[in-house]
Amino acid sequence: MIVKADLHIHSVLSPCADLEMSPVNIVTRAAQMGLALIAVTDHNCTLHGPLTRSLAARQGIYCLFGAEVNTREEIHCLCLVDTEEQRLALQDYIEQNITRIPNKPEVFGYQVQVNEQEEIVQEIDYLLHAALKRSIDEVAGFVHGIGGVFIPAHVDRPKYSVTSQLGFVPPSLQYDALEISKNSLVEQFRKSNPIKPNTQFIRNSDSHFIHQVGSTYTEYDLENLSFKCFKEALLGQGHSSVLPVV
Ligand SMILES: [Zn+2]
Ligand SMILES: [Zn+2]
Repeated sequence: MIVKADLHIHSVLSPCADLEMSPVNIVTRAAQMGLALIAVTDHNCTLHGPLTRSLAARQGIYCLFGAEVNTREEIHCLCLVDTEEQRLALQDYIEQNITRIPNKPEVFGYQVQVNEQEEIVQEIDYLLHAALKRSIDEVAGFVHGIGGVFIPAHVDRPKYSVTSQLGFVPPSLQYDALEISKNSLVEQFRKSNPIKPNTQFIRNSDSHFIHQVGSTYTEYDLENLSFKCFKEALLGQGHSSVLPVV
């Protein structure tokens, strides 16, 4: 089955996201846009995963769990997992390692967890956009250790990317794919950045506003709609694959 996936969506838990980015609205928009696979990847936070997954399931959409983790080098990385046990492990790792800076909602924005009725159930009082005390290699190692997928985000951007922070993609970095922005071409990125020839590229919306959900996506040919097949597609294993991103 060919499916459209947008695996980089921020919710109201991200201080920089619009307050309309509730799980209910994200799933409604994802369905309108014909997405079959999504992930809510808030800055250093997985807490909207379970609600989004249950809402998505009613629409026949599969929602992965995960977060956009900010490493010690200030590099944003998509960390995607599947089970509640993995999500809890990732959430615990983040909470243990994040630099605790009090959030000032009026300056940085609100960081709220909401329920299906869009009522606030929790406000996070430390700044979720802060960096972890762990390096990109350590975060990659942790995510792989729990069976997750590790994807450096928006690698071509001049801020918070592996290239902006390190100047290059380290040959030793253990990634499963690289996320490239919609306005960049893979061929150009490859020309200016020596990377492993078998590197898989994907695109996502990095939505902060509801109209952006699904505006950029990647198509996957999956044997079935599951994390296992998604992972196999990235790794070039089994019968699943990523449709070429150019
Ligand atoms: Zn980012
Ligand atoms: Zn993002």
